[in-house]
Amino acid sequence: MKITSLALAAAGLVTCMQPAIADDWNTPQEPFALSSDSYYVGTRGLSAVLIASKQGHILIDGATSDAASQIAANVRKLGFKVEDIRIILNSHEHLDHAGGIAELQRLSGAEVKATSAAAPVLRSGKVSRGDPQYAGLLDRDMAPVDKVGIVRDGETVKVGPLAVTLHATPGHTQGGSTWTWTSNDGGKRVNMVYADSLNAIASGAFRYSGDPAYPNARSDVERSIAKVAALPCDVLVSPHPEGSDLWERRAQRARLGNAAFVDKAACRTYADHARARLQKTLAAEAKTPAIVWRDNAKIAELFERAGVTGTFVVYDVAANVYTGHDRQRAGIRYVPASTYKIPNSLIGLATGAVSSVDEVLPYGGGPTYLPQWARDMPLREAIKISNVPVYKELARRIGMERMREGLRRLDYGNMDAGSVVDTFWLDGPLKISAVEQVRFLGRLAQDKLPFPKPAMAAVRGIVRQDDNVNLYAKTGWYVPDDRKNQIGWWVGWVEKEGKVYAFALNADITDDTVGAKRVPLGKAALQALGLL
Ligand SMILES: [Zn+2]
Repeated sequence: MKITSLALAAAGLVTCMQPAIADDWNTPQEPFALSSDSYYVGTRGLSAVLIASKQGHILIDGATSDAASQIAANVRKLGFKVEDIRIILNSHEHLDHAGGIAELQRLSGAEVKATSAAAPVLRSGKVSRGDPQYAGLLDRDMAPVDKVGIVRDGETVKVGPLAVTLHATPGHTQGGSTWTWTSNDGGKRVNMVYADSLNAIASGAFRYSGDPAYPNARSDVERSIAKVAALPCDVLVSPHPEGSDLWERRAQRARLGNAAFVDKAACRTYADHARARLQKTLAAEAKTPAIVWRDNAKIAELFERAGVTGTFVVYDVAANVYTGHDRQRAGIRYVPASTYKIPNSLIGLATGAVSSVDEVLPYGGGPTYLPQWARDMPLREAIKISNVPVYKELARRIGMERMREGLRRLDYGNMDAGSVVDTFWLDGPLKISAVEQVRFLGRLAQDKLPFPKPAMAAVRGIVRQDDNVNLYAKTGWYVPDDRKNQIGWWVGWVEKEGKVYAFALNADITDDTVGAKRVPLGKAALQALGLL
């Protein structure tokens, strides 16, 4: 069965922000009237509503930056001037609803108005740290909006005869905004509602059930759901049109006229779906125990002094406590690069792709990035100099099917091996967070992975450091094709007094000096904690 967005909407699973651009986000859509003065001017997948008057217009939402010109064209198609848009409002500060606002402001000269929580995001184009989807939107900047005025909860924004009221509905984001106004259809008063996304969707390690980045997330969603359910509501439009059954209603328009959009139960139904989504999110979170995290000021200071932007986490396996610097970043997944040599070795040994860490594997001939890689060697040596060609050979011997199965059994990051068996850990799509790294390494150190014990013992043996027998470690350095946004890693564990402390450091590599700082910085952090 092909699962359409409509089927997902019916199941109450309307997502508001998928990691990849959804298919229909920028699909063109003819504009149409919703009521006497309100028009749908968005794309097929993203809503935008124009409320028009002779004294100027109000526009709600700007979709993506790519869709902004379509919205402007739709306004013109209806016979209005884009320059007559006086005010632009926003449902919430995510790129699928606010990404096009900067361009629409440029085209119209309109004033942009938003809540005090959304305004800084619109002004900077950068996702807020307290956004439940912070981890997923970190590298997805929006075009910054020049001037953003502030609207308060309950305030009415006016243009000529138009009056649109803000009902703050935070929870999906902290700036979440629902807008209401009344239209007149043949003498009948119609309550119009542009309700924000109310879905509890988190990325990275964010938890609606309690997270220091946004402690009120759950109660905000609950309050916002109740607020929307109680609104006088005849015509509902949601930021993702399928979320309010817009296309089913539109199909009835030829027969019913604007009445096709009227449904007095629409807001309550919408709220019910959001409530079900919240329950689903909370149930999923209940299955994974919450992380006990302790920020460490000494480690923060070490990063500060080194001028390095990154995270460091130590997982005290016995106490089940995470200590470190930048909890949010510790939950963000990055390409593991050569830290993947640890699981690659394990899967290779477990599947018999290589018989032991002393079996010599060919590097394949030809030029190598580092001259010392140009020699056939066993994993024992290859891991020490991070020999990429030898580990690529190992991956090819494992093969895609066994590799995928291995990733699943290890529960390793996003477990996504993509389609190229000897590059997925170097170029992606495989990604893992620092927190996931330490969980994986903690299990390896304790012999607790669902893998043959001799394989685990052999892998522990080859990552043990010569200069310190209690330290097990591996570096990694992710270099994308465009060489921008490089990430450096240092991961491993320390054994001290019979206990295991798994650690992971990752950092933005802005220049080569940062690459050289990874290990000393990680060691300094371990020393600061008294582990080294
Ligand atoms: Zn969103």
